[in-house]
Amino acid sequence: MTVTTFETKTYQNFINNEWTVSSSAETIESINPATKEVVGLVQKSTEEDLNRAVEAAHTAKKAWRRIGQAARGQFLFKAANILEENLDHIAETMTREMGKTLPEAKGETARGIAILRYYAGEGMRKEGDVIPSSDKDALMFTKRTPLGVVGVITPWNFPVAIPIWKFAPALVYGNTIVWKPATEGAVTAAKVAECFVEAGLPEGVFNFITGSGSLIGQGLIDHPLLNAITFTGSENVGQNVAKSAAARGIKFQLEMGGKNPVIVTKDANIDQAVEAVISGGFRSSGQKCTASSRVIVEEAVYDEFKEKLVEAAEKITVGNGLQEGIWMGPCASESQFNTVTESIEKGRQEGATLIHGGEVLTGSEYDNGFFVTPAIFEDVTTDMAIAQEEIFGPVVALIKAADLEEAIDMANDTKYGLSASIFTSNISSLLEFVDEIEVGLVRINAESAGVELQAPFGGMKASSSGSREQGEAAKEFFTAIKTVFIKGS
Ligand code: NDP
Repeated sequence: MTVTTFETKTYQNFINNEWTVSSSAETIESINPATKEVVGLVQKSTEEDLNRAVEAAHTAKKAWRRIGQAARGQFLFKAANILEENLDHIAETMTREMGKTLPEAKGETARGIAILRYYAGEGMRKEGDVIPSSDKDALMFTKRTPLGVVGVITPWNFPVAIPIWKFAPALVYGNTIVWKPATEGAVTAAKVAECFVEAGLPEGVFNFITGSGSLIGQGLIDHPLLNAITFTGSENVGQNVAKSAAARGIKFQLEMGGKNPVIVTKDANIDQAVEAVISGGFRSSGQKCTASSRVIVEEAVYDEFKEKLVEAAEKITVGNGLQEGIWMGPCASESQFNTVTESIEKGRQEGATLIHGGEVLTGSEYDNGFFVTPAIFEDVTTDMAIAQEEIFGPVVALIKAADLEEAIDMANDTKYGLSASIFTSNISSLLEFVDEIEVGLVRINAESAGVELQAPFGGMKASSSGSREQGEAAKEFFTAIKTVFIKGS
């Protein structure tokens, strides 16, 4: 399958090895945030469709477990190759659907392929450990076993990489899945699903269903045949997932928001810090859970840092991410745009000073999209909403700190704990930061966004349910351990 032209079409659910329309006979439009054109239509699924998807995954789980890990890995290798053949088309769809620039979308799709190959390789790696028994005539070992049917609920901001880093390990470790993507990324998701379908997974192993979060997402979480749920998205929905899963005693994994700080110390390489804040704060229009949103700068270098940051932000080109030369695309949807503009207004009202950007772009091609220029605030105190609430947009708040200790206290003064950076050339400062900062991803002289696929990813406090995704850590969530003791008869 190699698609070269872009067409607006209607995508179906994939349930029990069949592309199928919803019993509602209704569809939902997905809109391009740069042009307001329809990118495609997806099924507005019903409870009946959802039941069929979960039942198919339930029926398939025994056979999928039995074919073995190595054979399962082979399906992922195939899916990776098919995704690679379609990289350009999928990336273009992503840019059209959620606005990130084409180079970023290509980078994300390439990452999805690399994740698939990493987990395909897991098919050939060990499933357990041999543990010495105190009985010399016995053999004791652990063996990983799948959980069963895993519900996968994913957001729109990384419509390729996040789903794949959830369902690639789920599948290779022997689970069957029902995937409900974000509606705002559902066309891109359908194209990823097509690659998996072409890889020829057995009946019922991979199920894809679109529809509203409150009906299909909630219905999936509450479904009695579900054995585990993995979710990335907002904190409100995540808390609801936790309640429902805990009440039924099923395993759950939540990755939610962040209010990620960057500390710039007096001995930092200021140019390096500026580059990282520009990239971490504004790439993908700030719509990353690891985006840099608070920059806490030691007084001694505050003015120099601020001037250089504003100078760099002035060079950012905003527009349709399909066009060459555009560095930052639109907000992904009207609701994201509203959140961003309201947050900017709230920042002003609270007494912060907008020193750059934050303007809604209008005129000619901008009138049809959700474009805001990258915003930088100063005079921000840690109690303000712009220093506490996740905006998920191109808004960076500058906060002045007297010294490193105050900077770390300010960095920790939030309910979130996903990722944090420090820029320093002082080893004592960086060691203090590593020890004191309350986050899952600690970055030294590097932007707050970004993690390698072979390393654990996840947060602390309200950012996460505590488990980790990616790399070997995924095995902990997607499997259960059996301890086996064998004695000769
Ligand atoms: P949501 O949490 O609403 O959406 C994430 C996923 O959950 C989507 O697939 C959504 O489906 C689904 N969903 C929505 N409601 C329910 C429900 N009641 N039960 C089960 N699933 C549900 O996030 P939004 O897309 O609305 O974004 C809102 C905010 O969340 C952002 O501004 C940002 O702050 C945060 N966010 C954080 C992300 C991260 O990476 N940590 C990613 C995305 C958002 P549907 O799309 O159909 O509503």
